[in-house]
Amino acid sequence: MLKLLKELVYADGPPGFENEVREIVLRELEPRVDEISVDTLGNVIAWKNGDSDQKLMLCAHQDEDWAQIITHIDEKGFLRFSRLVGHRWSLLGQQVVIHSKQGKRTGVIGLQAPHLIPLEEQLRGYQPHDDSMFIDCGLRSHTEAIALGLEVGQYVTACKHFEELHDGRLLGNCFDNRVGVAVMIETMRRIEKLAPAKTVVAVASVQEELGTRGAQTAAYQVNPDYAIALDVAPTNDHPGADTRTIPAALGGGPVLLRADQFGVTSVAFTNWLATIAATLNLTYQSLALRAPIHFGTDAGAIELARGGSLVSAVLAPTRYFHTSKSVVDFSDLEGMVDLLVGSINASGELPLEPD
Ligand SMILES: [Zn+2]
Repeated sequence: MLKLLKELVYADGPPGFENEVREIVLRELEPRVDEISVDTLGNVIAWKNGDSDQKLMLCAHQDEDWAQIITHIDEKGFLRFSRLVGHRWSLLGQQVVIHSKQGKRTGVIGLQAPHLIPLEEQLRGYQPHDDSMFIDCGLRSHTEAIALGLEVGQYVTACKHFEELHDGRLLGNCFDNRVGVAVMIETMRRIEKLAPAKTVVAVASVQEELGTRGAQTAAYQVNPDYAIALDVAPTNDHPGADTRTIPAALGGGPVLLRADQFGVTSVAFTNWLATIAATLNLTYQSLALRAPIHFGTDAGAIELARGGSLVSAVLAPTRYFHTSKSVVDFSDLEGMVDLLVGSINASGELPLEPD
């Protein structure tokens, strides 16, 4: 799974342009399922038939958590941009890739040197505005930019990096949500030879970061009875975090989501997942994040598709997501896979009554 995660990190997949990630998902899932398709928006929907018509949907979004879009090219060939997704304080100095008509082009997000910012402004707590920044691709003119295939509306992603920091702690771009995709693929690998009690439908959704858009059409098509979103969760185990609102930490095991900005997960189904974890001797963590914390997953969209389904979310504790680099603990990802495989193995115990 580590090798797969690394490959997924290096694939670029801004929301709405997930093609590189989708190719990997298709390559990995196609030999392991009974039926696979890509819908109009680009969701991959892979069916592994079970003994029952009831469906358990796993859903991990393909798109990444840091991406910009070109809004203007000026006379000197500098590119102005808007944020599609990502933390605004992670922009400056970031090495980026522009997805031009002629392929990928490297640039860097620039701003005037701090020496040139008047001292009074700095003392007043100067913060650069997004629109004072620009992308420098080393060009000299607008004409040169156009000749190299650059255009308004093109996507910008971060230059990718992946390495093991220490003892299973991984550093890389867009762990939100390549970890979810890697965990889902690894789970489907592990159940490859099994005949599950429920039909398992693995969905790699698109455009989660723009408002869970792919999950809406995928869930309509799949019409699941149960669904688990696979995504990331914030942690409290670094300076400045509030241990009361965010009780999750790296290495503490998979996080079971109880509530987020958009609603609550199914009490019965999430309790059932916790029971499976306990049976397997897996440690897990619980998370309930309501406003003012702005956090949601595909589970909120899936729950409301058609006549509704029992949803939950199993999340990887992750530091610093929605900046260009995050940190995870590989043992948490292994715990997620163990929990999902154990749940699929025990899925004959379902159905549960709605909450
Ligand atoms: Zn996510």
